[in-house]
Amino acid sequence: MNGNSLEPTCRDCGQPISFHAGETRPARCEQCFDGFLRARDVEFLSSYAELGVTSRRTIAETCFRALAMDNPPHRKVLAMNIMEQYVHTASDLIGLYAALKQRGRQPVMRAFLEFKLDHPTALGFFREVANTPAHEMLASLGLPVPEALAERCPSLSKSDVRDLKRAMNQLLYDLAYTVNPGESAALALAQMAGESRIGPALANQSMWLDSVGLRKDQVASFSLDQRRRTVNVTAISVDEKKLENVISSINAMTRAAENMIYAVLTMYQEDERSGQSSRRTGRAAKR
Ligand SMILES: [Zn+2]
Repeated sequence: MNGNSLEPTCRDCGQPISFHAGETRPARCEQCFDGFLRARDVEFLSSYAELGVTSRRTIAETCFRALAMDNPPHRKVLAMNIMEQYVHTASDLIGLYAALKQRGRQPVMRAFLEFKLDHPTALGFFREVANTPAHEMLASLGLPVPEALAERCPSLSKSDVRDLKRAMNQLLYDLAYTVNPGESAALALAQMAGESRIGPALANQSMWLDSVGLRKDQVASFSLDQRRRTVNVTAISVDEKKLENVISSINAMTRAAENMIYAVLTMYQEDERSGQSSRRTGRAAKR
């Protein structure tokens, strides 16, 4: 009899893993999975910063450019897609912020990928950014105030300190800009984010639903609200000025995420360097 097929073991530590018959066989135990993710947090962040972080902006800007020359039905689809990218960008930024804040407790990669934007997380972020002094907010992300950078990161050159200082001030500005529209924006974001994961269904008219019609320049997305047993309708108008503001918000949030990762990775690198040098001096002292 083959014992392996009866008792699956963790790929990393070799301990037996329990799982119920009919379930997918796990590759590793829960503990090793956390370790696996944690060991890759820094690589994940730098790789995500190279491409993923700007992906929503790329789609939104492409839609916005196409908007100018497309016919009315297509314009509606593009406008709604820009709104969707706005929600995705916010979800990415708020998820990143939450994941970095709790670093050390669970892998950043897990917290980020499992993050879900909903009413409490959206409102919590808007309130926290609006009401927390800058130095406290930075400290919760593991960052010093911009003025203390040179002291915190002695291995950085003067120009690196200057660049990072600029990035961190920009980060604070962009975070404030993001929450500036207030809590109604947070609630709207959460509602749109709560819609189905594959994206909502779009419609040109909503009269058939509950006798509330759309204007000619509007487009609506529909989704089921199972909890309230109702259908959520999010209507937006294809107004280039308004969409331009949405693009500005997407830009600010994308830049905030980029600068946040840049600053956090710099701290990781600094700690790595000082850890290595203190280990070296430690060894030298013993000899
Ligand atoms: Zn294991």
